[in-house]
Amino acid sequence: MSNKGFTTIAVHSERWGKPEHGSLRKPIHTSIAYGYEKSADLAAVFQNRAKGYAYARQANPTVTALEEKVTALEGGVGTVCFSTGMAAFAAAALALLRDGDHIVSSSYLFGNTSSQLSTLARIGIEVTFVDATDVKNVANAITPRTRIVLVETIANPVTQVADLAAIGKLCKERGLIYIIDNTLTSPYLFKPITVDATFSWSSLSKYFGGHGAALGGSLTDLGHFDWSTYANIYDLYKGGEAKNWALVQIRKKGLRDFGATLSPEASHTLSLGSETLALRMDRHCDNAERLALFLSEQKQVAKVHYPGLSSHPQYNLVQNLFRRPGALLSFELASGLDTLAFLDQLELVICSSNLGDTRTLAIPVAQTIFFELGPEKRAEMGIADGLIRLSVGIEDAADLIADFTQAFLAFK
Ligand SMILES: *Cc1c(COP(=O)(O)O)cnc(C)c1O
Repeated sequence: MSNKGFTTIAVHSERWGKPEHGSLRKPIHTSIAYGYEKSADLAAVFQNRAKGYAYARQANPTVTALEEKVTALEGGVGTVCFSTGMAAFAAAALALLRDGDHIVSSSYLFGNTSSQLSTLARIGIEVTFVDATDVKNVANAITPRTRIVLVETIANPVTQVADLAAIGKLCKERGLIYIIDNTLTSPYLFKPITVDATFSWSSLSKYFGGHGAALGGSLTDLGHFDWSTYANIYDLYKGGEAKNWALVQIRKKGLRDFGATLSPEASHTLSLGSETLALRMDRHCDNAERLALFLSEQKQVAKVHYPGLSSHPQYNLVQNLFRRPGALLSFELASGLDTLAFLDQLELVICSSNLGDTRTLAIPVAQTIFFELGPEKRAEMGIADGLIRLSVGIEDAADLIADFTQAFLAFK
């Protein structure tokens, strides 16, 4: 399966799992419980000695089909899916860390992830935030209690790109778990396995599902980490091959104990959406490249942040590591212009907080998603009051350019 192209895998992987009745698509299984003719077989499932289903909080056949697809697209050894992207990281942290353990995280982070880390910091897990665009800052923050290094591929809203390969090398040398949030790139644009990541973490709610119609998250073990050397694996979960231990523990804690389970209905919607991931992503990127250039030429725009512009600080790194530079960009209006009034002028582009949708969405960053941070922290992160984040959709590029053109005309 892994020797096939990206979209071939995306459209055929369910069928390769031999669904019921020769169905081309994995059916939506709504049963919560599963019956066994021999009680010993159910016991074997409970004891992790056999694969199978017992209660749907922990595993469901429709969700398994999606997990197998994500594993194949990422090139990993296994995947656990969750109700949301946020739940996926929470499950990994709570399952793999203990009181006093330490996370080194990029400070350029999805706002809710930052918030989640600050919650973890209040219950005994230490967190240090660093500028991860330079591996030296990550290296300097490592302590004897460090267990996890967390970065994103393209950080939102200012599009910083972490020093992905160098951090991978560092984590490998130091025996650290390296988690890459691959949401903004998706496995089509970037494969975290190529930079020695331990896990690829993804919000399936964004580009993967793609249509803004279902929430979901995933965590894929990429097979680089030797779990037999890791102190925090419970003896109970050390059966079978060591490469599966972490995911077994994450499934038991994150799904069975904490209940962050993805529904079979959402799983179906996400899987259906993912069939066109590569096609959509190419179109998203085409449109983003066009808009980034167009915006750069406008006198009402002070600055454009987009990893595909040669002015971007990590432009070379992006050219080497990513298939394309993604479809998220942000731009700063020239000072004195009213950010909210400008957004209200747009007719086709929607003012909305999501990203990775098929529709182009714009949001005033300082006034919404980064409002809670306050003015000082925003200034530290380079977030000006006139910053607008754009998640570029798959509309016809000419219509997007026309919409921005008429909005800028009103702001002469
Ligand atoms: C949306 C998002 C998340 C969280 O995902 P949900 O599915 O909304 O919980 C995490 N990281 C990034 C980069 C995101 O964009």
